[in-house]
Amino acid sequence: MEKVGLALGSNLGDRIDILQKASKLLVDNLESRHCLASGVYETAPLDCPPGSPSFYNAVIELETDLPPLELLTVCQDIEQRLGRPLQHEFNAPRTVDIDILYYGEESVTTDRLTVPHPRMEARAFVQLPLSEIRPDLAELDSLSDIHLCQRLEHPLFP
Ligand code: ADP
Ligand code: MG
Repeated sequence: MEKVGLALGSNLGDRIDILQKASKLLVDNLESRHCLASGVYETAPLDCPPGSPSFYNAVIELETDLPPLELLTVCQDIEQRLGRPLQHEFNAPRTVDIDILYYGEESVTTDRLTVPHPRMEARAFVQLPLSEIRPDLAELDSLSDIHLCQRLEHPLFP
């Protein structure tokens, strides 16, 4: 069993409902008995097409026996099930994005998957929720975008 960190983001549709559904589907699909869930943060869009809605973001840690690439396939299946087309434009608004932040202490570098996630550092929408559940892994110093991120009252698991 490995502990895996997953970053969830949504900026299309009923964002809180989608994040809650994605979280439940991940727990169910991975049959994880371990679950750490952050709060939900609202983040202003950066590098997105003009008029893109703000993001809702959260991080969860689960446990799985699946190897990293099979875990990615589960994440992508859930993205599709929740309405994200398989083919999509770069940074287009999305019902849900599920990224693998870490997979135990393993490093993975393949065409499909890079773990730890190369863009997890220095992003407030990852580091703030991560700091709630795994402060040992989070790096809150020198976040230039922290002012874009605001914690909401919605729970990830209602
Ligand atoms: P982004 O997450 O940057 O918004 P996408 O969700 O469209 O973009 O992902 C693009 C590709 O990134 C995926 O098809 C996947 O193969 C690849 N990828 C590489 N590393 C990871 C990771 N750690 N977690 C999720 N996807 C990853
Ligand atoms: Mg992604």
